[in-house]
Amino acid sequence: MSPFVQSAYSAFAEVVGEDFITREPVQIAAAETATFATSNSLVAIVRPADRAQTQDCVRVASRFGIPIFPISTGKNWGYGSRVPNTDGCVLLDLSRMNRIRDFSEKLAYVTVEPGVTQEQLYAFLKEQRSSLWMDATGSSPTSSLIGNTMERGFGHTPYGDHLAHACAFEVVLPNGECIETGFARYPGAVAAPVYRWGTGPSLDGLFSQSSLGIVTRMTIWLMPAPEYFQAFFFRCNHARDLGPAIDVLRPLRLSGTLRSAVHIANGYKVLSGMSQYPWEFTKGKTPLLPADLEELGRSLGFGDWNGAGGLYGTKAQVKEARRLIRRALSGKVAAIRFLDDANLKTARWATPLLRVAGWDLSRTLELVRPVYGLLKGIPTEQPLRSTYWRKRMKVPAKMDPDKDRCGLIWCAPIAPFDGEHAMTVSGLASRILLKHGFEPLLSLTLISERALTCVISITYDRDILGEDERAMSCHRDLVSQLTSSGYYFYRLGVQSMGEMGSGNGYTSTLRQIQNTFDPNRIMSPGRYTPSKTG
Ligand SMILES: Cc1cc2nc3c(=O)[nH]c(=O)nc-3n(C[C@H](O)[C@H](O)[C@H](O)COP(=O)(O)OP(=O)(O)OC[C@H]3O[C@@H](n4cnc5c(N)ncnc54)[C@H](O)[C@@H]3O)c2cc1C
Repeated sequence: MSPFVQSAYSAFAEVVGEDFITREPVQIAAAETATFATSNSLVAIVRPADRAQTQDCVRVASRFGIPIFPISTGKNWGYGSRVPNTDGCVLLDLSRMNRIRDFSEKLAYVTVEPGVTQEQLYAFLKEQRSSLWMDATGSSPTSSLIGNTMERGFGHTPYGDHLAHACAFEVVLPNGECIETGFARYPGAVAAPVYRWGTGPSLDGLFSQSSLGIVTRMTIWLMPAPEYFQAFFFRCNHARDLGPAIDVLRPLRLSGTLRSAVHIANGYKVLSGMSQYPWEFTKGKTPLLPADLEELGRSLGFGDWNGAGGLYGTKAQVKEARRLIRRALSGKVAAIRFLDDANLKTARWATPLLRVAGWDLSRTLELVRPVYGLLKGIPTEQPLRSTYWRKRMKVPAKMDPDKDRCGLIWCAPIAPFDGEHAMTVSGLASRILLKHGFEPLLSLTLISERALTCVISITYDRDILGEDERAMSCHRDLVSQLTSSGYYFYRLGVQSMGEMGSGNGYTSTLRQIQNTFDPNRIMSPGRYTPSKTG
C-alpha cells in the first residue's frame, strides 16, 4: 500500500473506528465477487454507523480523491452484487445503519435507514401488532428496503412500485453536505412523511439509479391490510395463449380491478423454482429443450405460462373482482384457481380433487405458498433457490449465490402492456437464450396499468470453464436485439451502465448535473451516469 493510500485508510479509520474498516484480502475478494465475471477491484470496505460518519467518509474520499461506492446490504445479485463500476473504490457498506426511525400506524408509514432489511420490517410490524402490510420483493429477506428502492425495484402488492411509495429522503451529497427532499427540508414540517412533493422542484428522482448522493433515510408508505385477500393462479398450456391472456388482463388493471402486479412465469421459470436442473432426466445434457420441458410440465402440472396475482378489498369487492377475472380469462387459459388463507391451509387435503381437475397443487404447493405470501408482502427465501438451478451442489441452508459461484445475469426490458409485445419480447428472449445454450427462465410482470416487464434470467454455473464468457455473450446479444427492437431496461447491471448513452442531449445534461454535484467523480463513478468529467 502506497503512503498516500495508507494515509487515506487512516483517515477513514479515524472516522469509523478500526473495527469498521478492512482491507483483509478474503473479505475484499468476497465483495469483489458477483454472480458473473467482473474485474473492478476494491481498496477497502468501510462501515459507517450513522449519517454523520457517512458525511465524514465522503469528505475523506473527496480530500484524497478516492472514489466510494455506497451499498445498503449489497444483495444486488444478477446486476453486479457489491462490485462497483470502476476500479479502486472504497466500498461504503451502510448495513450498520439499520434503525427504524419513525412509524405511524395511523398514517401508514415507516421511516428507515439503509441497513433495514425486508425481514426486519416484517418482524417489526408483527411486533407492533400492526394492521399494515409492507411490500416484499422476491429477493432475500435480508436485502435492504432502501437499496431496492434506489434501483427502482418492485414487489407484488398494490404498493409494489417502491420508488412510487417512498418520500422524504435524507441524502449525503458528494461534497459531504446533507439535504432532505420534499417537505423534510423545512424544520418541523409535519407533513414531510405523508406528502412527497414539498414545494418547488422535486429532487427525489435525481437520487434513484444515480451517483449523485447517498440516501441515509427514507420514508416508506405501508398498505392497510385489506379486509379480505384472495390470490388467483392461472395456467396457459400453449405459448400462443399468452398474448390473448395479457390483452384481457389489461382492462382489468387499467380499471383498478387488478390493483397489483400480476406475475406470469414461463414453464422454465416455474421448474427452476421447484427444483434444480433435471440432470438425470436429460442425462446430463444442456440446455433443457422445450419438448423435454413440456413433458416435465405435464407430469408436474404447470403450463407454458403460469400466472399469479392478488385481489385486495372487502369480501364483496373481491367477489366482484373474482367474477370479472373469471369472465375475462375463461376460454383464454387452461385453468384458473382462487386461493385464500382458509383453503390454503387445507390445500393438502384437496390435492386428490385438484389432481382430477388437472391441477396438481401438491407438487407446486412448495412454490405456491411463498408466491401467495409475497402477494401479501411476506418476505421469503424460496425464489433465491433458483440461482442454484444449474449447480451440481445441493442448495445449501445458507444461500450465498456470490460465494457459491452461481451464475446469474438479469436483463429486464420494459414493454407496453400488450399481448403482441409480450409475445415478441418473450419469444425473442427464448430464442436467444436457447441459441446460446441456456434455458430461458422468464417472467412477465404486469408492473403498472400500462407497462409490463419481462424479467429474463441467464442462469448458469460459474464453475464450468467458459460459461462466464458464454453467458456474457448471450447477454450482449439480448441487449443488442432488444434495444434494436425498441425495448429498453428498467434497471441495468454493472456491466451495462457505460453502454447505455444517448445522443439526444440527455447524457450531456446528466454530465452537467454531475459536474455540479460531483466534479471530481468520487461517488459511484460510472453508475448510470458518465464516469468521466467533461
Ligand atoms: C432470486 C432473486 C429474486 C429477486 N427478486 C427481485 C424482485 O422481486 N424485485 C426486485 O426489485 N429485485 C429482485 N432481485 C434483485 C435484487 O436482489 C434486489 O433488487 C435487492 O433488493 C438488491 O439488493 P439490496 O437490497 O441489498 O441493495 P444494494 O445492493 O445495497 O443496492 C443496490 C444498488 O443501489 C445503490 N445504493 C444502495 N444503497 C444506496 C444508498 N443508500 N444511497 C444511494 N445508492 C444506494 C448501489 O449502487 C447499489 O449497487 C432478485 C434477485 C434474486 C437473485
